[in-house]
Amino acid sequence: MNILQAADILAWNLWGNDDTDYRVLRNVMLTTRCRHDCAICLQAITAGSRVRASTEAYDGACKTFYVCPTCCEAILLDQRDGDCLHIAAGKAC
Ligand SMILES: [Zn+2]
Repeated sequence: MNILQAADILAWNLWGNDDTDYRVLRNVMLTTRCRHDCAICLQAITAGSRVRASTEAYDGACKTFYVCPTCCEAILLDQRDGDCLHIAAGKAC
């Protein structure tokens, strides 16, 4: 993944047209140090995976949402195709 691809993944709207009043505190690509669950496909993300991590504040709470490598690849394919078929299918092909 190059820097332009990472920028496309980070620019992708994680919650679609949701108008909830949340605030993004941090939105970065990082390598995980422990296990997490993907916010999109809900599958386990193993330690050492390159993921998108978005930390958000809402209603007095703060939470980080992780996007697994497969969903990150699907985001890139969907942006290339101009639709959401790859994300909806849960795969990057
Ligand atoms: Zn995923």
